[in-house]
Amino acid sequence: MSYDKTIAQAARTELERRRSQAEKTARQNLEGFLSNCPRAKEISRELAKNSAGAARAVLSGGNVHEELEQRKKLGLALREEYEELLKAHGLTRHDIEPRYSCSECRDTGFVDGRMCGCHRALRRSIAYRQLSAGLPLEQCTFQSFLLDYYEGDPAAKKRMKEILDTCRKYAENLRPRSSNLLFWGGTGLGKTHLSLAIANAAIEKGFGVVYGSAQKFALAIEKERFSREDSVGTANSLKECDLLILDDLGVEFSSPYSDAAIYDVVNERLMAERPTIISTNLDPSGLEKRYGERFASRIVGGYALMRFKGRDVRVQKLNR
Ligand SMILES: [Zn+2]
Repeated sequence: MSYDKTIAQAARTELERRRSQAEKTARQNLEGFLSNCPRAKEISRELAKNSAGAARAVLSGGNVHEELEQRKKLGLALREEYEELLKAHGLTRHDIEPRYSCSECRDTGFVDGRMCGCHRALRRSIAYRQLSAGLPLEQCTFQSFLLDYYEGDPAAKKRMKEILDTCRKYAENLRPRSSNLLFWGGTGLGKTHLSLAIANAAIEKGFGVVYGSAQKFALAIEKERFSREDSVGTANSLKECDLLILDDLGVEFSSPYSDAAIYDVVNERLMAERPTIISTNLDPSGLEKRYGERFASRIVGGYALMRFKGRDVRVQKLNR
């Protein structure tokens, strides 16, 4: 998966921040310890002298075995004493050595010249965050989904209660191969609210979530088509993220290229069994009209269809 330069740069900056933070903390702890414990400072000097002496002995040739043994013993004793002093100051060796977030690459992002797993994960999460930027995630939770708006219509209220329960369970049991959901119904019935509530729960669980309107993604894909940069970012992120939430499908501008790209995303995720949630105002026959029979049959066959009912919640909120 290739990323555009801003994502690569942001990942490098974050790694650098982690690394220097870990090193700074260790340095501060060490300096604090040494200034409170003159004996530890002395030991550091003696240890340095001891290893310099060992090197001299080796260079001088002759029978150095005995001297080296002695110096080894001295070194061990000094190190032991140092550990004791650390303990007496409520510290361990870990406190005066950098605690990197990733012990594999020590927050450099590379192991033996190859990109570390933590670096790849970081780039992915930055890419997803960029794609999902500006979402009202905090406002849209399961708790804040009010069924009162469906009060006048018992059938709709019952249906929406079922949908709410299903979504809650879906979020609780979310796995890498969870099923796909299609939220279908008119504007303002809570489709976006519930899909954001699922996104919240998924992010909480550490899933790489990409959320956005079909319109936004179609425009990004169309733009990247003509971009000279080696970035196939959006389409790939949509295909590869752990959970994709495609909002408002069917109202995006239509071009054969972006329609094909959206079909491609939906299809590849089905094949790879990666969960997707789509919300749309279109019913299945509307989907067929808009995207063709092949697309509609993929959706009908591969998604749990959930029809939202009731009156426009947004209008009701305004009236209150
Ligand atoms: Zn790493």
